Amino acid sequence: MHVDQRPPDGSDTLGLEGQYLIRSYSHSIVIDRGEGCYMYDAAGNRYLDFMSGIGVNALGMAHPRMVQAMHEQVDQLVHCSNLYAHAHQGPLAERLAKASRLQRVFFTNSGAECIEGAIKIAKGHGRKISADKYEIVALNNSFGGRTLAAIAVTGQEKHREPFEPLIPGVKFIDANDVAALESAVGENTAAILFEPILGEGGIVQIDREFAAKAAELARKHDALLIFDEIQTGLGRTGKHFAYQWWNDPGRNESADVEPILPDIIVTAKPLGGGLPLGAIIANEKAAGVITPGIHGSTFGGNALACRVAIEFLDILDGLLPQINETGDYFGSQLHGLVEKYDFVQGVRGRGVMRGINLTVPGKSVVGQCQERGLLINCTADTVLRFLPPYIIERGQIDELIGALDEIFAQGPPE
Ligand SMILES: *Cc1c(COP(=O)(O)O)cnc(C)c1O
Repeated sequence: MHVDQRPPDGSDTLGLEGQYLIRSYSHSIVIDRGEGCYMYDAAGNRYLDFMSGIGVNALGMAHPRMVQAMHEQVDQLVHCSNLYAHAHQGPLAERLAKASRLQRVFFTNSGAECIEGAIKIAKGHGRKISADKYEIVALNNSFGGRTLAAIAVTGQEKHREPFEPLIPGVKFIDANDVAALESAVGENTAAILFEPILGEGGIVQIDREFAAKAAELARKHDALLIFDEIQTGLGRTGKHFAYQWWNDPGRNESADVEPILPDIIVTAKPLGGGLPLGAIIANEKAAGVITPGIHGSTFGGNALACRVAIEFLDILDGLLPQINETGDYFGSQLHGLVEKYDFVQGVRGRGVMRGINLTVPGKSVVGQCQERGLLINCTADTVLRFLPPYIIERGQIDELIGALDEIFAQGPPE
């Protein structure tokens, strides 16, 4: 199906990449343009996108309001550096603070840069108390990004080992292992850091019991509780932040259960509507660690990205009910595959952040889906991961389920 990948101007994009790019990626498709939940390659093939650029294109591609906001802002101001204020950081910070119930925001260009900043805050916080209080407790199979401090808190040997020695004092425990959490956290813990749902780690949900224990231990030992909502955040699970499900009154818990509130949330992927933008959202205690001049960014929070992010959050407010409905439908359709095929073990995730775990590696399914014009991904070896745009429709979900059904009907993937 995808034979000629050369763009119409005759230049050989993939050839040039092969010759001149550092070999960090392996590309087979050249994307030319996108609209809604579809992407088109340079040869004119259409793909239904269940990855949304790794969770970035939350409103699909070329959303009219996002495009208009971008155009207007490009004409007015793109960048002025953080030596000066522009009109959009303040209002965007207000929206993020109100959505999270935290107080202050620092803008970055990526998820990893958020993790870096959060670690600096954790270290600064610990240092105020004692020189030995620099430990960070993180989870096995977590992912924090590719920079040095971010890989130091990434619970995957393959990302860490080639670059050791990394920053000291990071302890890894298994997700949802409350006993391990209790023995890992102590007076030298500066922060407990985890994703409410591990994304790269295979859509593994953290349960309330574990999160509540983390909050309790963080309070007891004066450590910061940091939620990495870079992938789960900003509507993907049906709430602004995934941790808010732990406090949902619909959970039928007695009213005296204390809400779980982090000291810091980091978020990024969908925030800038495709422009590089992340946010460290902190309470006053954590934010107070950053004094003038101690942290900064040349590009972070530029006028264009912030303006577009405000547009995104405005649209998101009206979209949350739809994300929940679509997400429930998606979950139930995936569940049908679990019932039908014994090598499909279960459905994971919430909203439009979904996975199915197989008893066998899932990589070949990704390729077969791509041949059928469907973009999905496999993570943690055996988990097929789906991060479609929030605007995905039932008919498009049916299309994916139909394709998976056809592929699975041939037997367990090899
Ligand atoms: C993607 C991701 C990161 C890293 O973000 P980058 O923008 O790629 O640096 C960190 N944490 C989680 C949970 C992520 O999904």
